[in-house]
Amino acid sequence: MSTVIDGRKTAAEVVEKVKALTSDLAAKGFSAPGLGVVPGLAVVPGLAVVIVGEDPASQVYVANKSRTAKECGFHSVQHTLAADTGEADLLKLIGELNADPAIHGILVQLPLPGHIDSGKVIQAIAPEKDVDGFTYVNVGKLGAGESTTAFVPCTPAGSMLLIERVRGRDLSGLNAVVIGRSNIVGKPMANLLLAANCTVTVAHSRTKDLAALARTADILVAAVGRPEMVKGDWVKPGATVIDVGINRIPAPEKGEGKTRLVGDVDYAQAAEVAGAITPVPGGVGPMTIAMLMANTVVSACLAAGLARPEF
Ligand code: NDP
Repeated sequence: MSTVIDGRKTAAEVVEKVKALTSDLAAKGFSAPGLGVVPGLAVVPGLAVVIVGEDPASQVYVANKSRTAKECGFHSVQHTLAADTGEADLLKLIGELNADPAIHGILVQLPLPGHIDSGKVIQAIAPEKDVDGFTYVNVGKLGAGESTTAFVPCTPAGSMLLIERVRGRDLSGLNAVVIGRSNIVGKPMANLLLAANCTVTVAHSRTKDLAALARTADILVAAVGRPEMVKGDWVKPGATVIDVGINRIPAPEKGEGKTRLVGDVDYAQAAEVAGAITPVPGGVGPMTIAMLMANTVVSACLAAGLARPEF
């Protein structure tokens, strides 16, 4: 039986570190070039979350983010805009948040309503406040191997932290297979694994003989959005399996109309073969919000002229 990688525990550790850094920032204050630290000017990390419309899933995500930000001691602001808000108004708000010195992180909850160009809105966020890591500056830094100065998207950053807990920071000599090539998960995940010296293969819907490819992986990351697609015989014995997928499926055994969450990996089968595996729920999921908090406190430290903390 494999080791269960406890995402809730690691996420709680990250949040504790964020809280400690937030207290430190309040005590240390602002560090001005030439002046050193100015204790009177306490810095409170500020996170602005913007949501447009009333998508129920998005509202739950946003509420969780705002609640965790408050728990961390952040200045937490939520902008809830009507579904028919125009693109120009949203861009104006982003401009105001970019210019607001009390805000260190800006997150626009996706998806946006169809009449708004999401790409245009995301790219309008100042890269130094882009705690989701979606602007081209941050994407480019990660792609160029500058992952220590980039804001890395929260889900792959959290997945990487879980991998490090099992395998350490240097993954030299290991083969990694990432199933999924989205800009939010698959591609940044592949870049992070490459930066950690893995030999990386990215698979997607056009990949041939995916099962055989997956079996070559010492580290297998599934970010597909297909319930329990990765079977036990896709997993190399002893592999580290990171299941990013979150899929809601019917659960008639729990009662009529009930559902349950499963990942992209058939957990029961894969856990028989893997060395270590993330469960769903309780694996990658909790790490995403924790890394958003981590990115925001990093942004606040950098804005205060302090060294970049590591997670
Ligand atoms: P996308 O839909 O953007 O990307 C899915 C990827 O999977 C695509 O690259 C697609 O290939 C590939 N794919 C689809 N079907 C197959 C198949 N049969 N075989 C191989 N590859 C396939 O999804 P995301 O990356 O945004 O999310 C992936 C999963 O992760 C979802 O379940 C999502 O809910 C979850 N997620 C979880 C988060 C968390 O906090 N834990 C955060 C973000 C996402 P192609 O490019 O060829 O179409």
